[in-house]
Amino acid sequence: MKTFSAVPDMRSEVRTQKARGKTVGLVPTMGYLHEGHLSLIRGSIRQMDYTVASVFVNPAQFAPNEDLQQYPRDMKRDSDLLEKEGVNSLFAPGDDQMYPQGFGTYVEVVDMQHKLCGRSRPAHFRGVCTVVLKLFNIIEPDAAFFGQKDAQQAIIIRKMVRDLNLDVKIEVMPIVRDEQGLALSSRNAYLSPELKKQALSLSASLKEAQNMIESGERTAEKIIRRMKKIIGSEPSARIDYVEVVDTDNLDPLKKIDDQALIAVAVFFEKVRLIDNFMFESKEKKQ
Ligand code: AMP
Repeated sequence: MKTFSAVPDMRSEVRTQKARGKTVGLVPTMGYLHEGHLSLIRGSIRQMDYTVASVFVNPAQFAPNEDLQQYPRDMKRDSDLLEKEGVNSLFAPGDDQMYPQGFGTYVEVVDMQHKLCGRSRPAHFRGVCTVVLKLFNIIEPDAAFFGQKDAQQAIIIRKMVRDLNLDVKIEVMPIVRDEQGLALSSRNAYLSPELKKQALSLSASLKEAQNMIESGERTAEKIIRRMKKIIGSEPSARIDYVEVVDTDNLDPLKKIDDQALIAVAVFFEKVRLIDNFMFESKEKKQ
């Protein structure tokens, strides 16, 4: 595996591979890799000739009061894991490569960036879209791999790609969970064993929502109420949101018809966790 930190070096490596006729897959990450990230890596390696993984803790997507400084980092471990998986190149730029002095251009998906997570994190998706577009411009991937874990992010990136005519296929891979159901996240490293136990209420509430929908419940309010009760019974849980929204535009749904994104964000003490479940009726799937 080759490792690049400078934009021109990364760009020239990918151009060389493309000139050889290779298809290129990109997996953007913020590092501290777990099986969720590795499932995206494996997806890219399966489908593409040449896989680039990026590790960059993107300052632009953190608010001043968030965990940018504390965000867990372990480049040596990440690099070893990526090499073992068979990744071709690791792109690990410094902040100065991505945001040189005088940087001042941002990308906003205006109609969706302030919904769900965007309400409590107003500049988050602007930071995500900006860095992802930069990575697309540097690496020019044929396909990029994202996780359903960050459902709103995947929907917003798809929209950005459509709206800006970007020539990249967006692949969204299923949520990877631990054996108890907790969605894997680099931020789980912040959780004490007790908080980890309480955090299982997220997946438990989503499972309950799924059961309710599959048994015919269609009223969003009833589902939300039940989910809030499950999560709210944990002493350290502070709910940011529990919502049932349209999967295309993220607008709240009153009644579920043939599709819905059921999404939650909850603080356990200072740790903010997200999780979701995407419902699609059998008719819609066909
Ligand atoms: P992050 O490093 O948190 O920015 O995540 C990088 C990518 O990995 C994003 O596309 C995430 O959606 C994806 N990802 C993170 N956790 C999981 C998970 N548990 N299952 C699947 N994908 C994940």
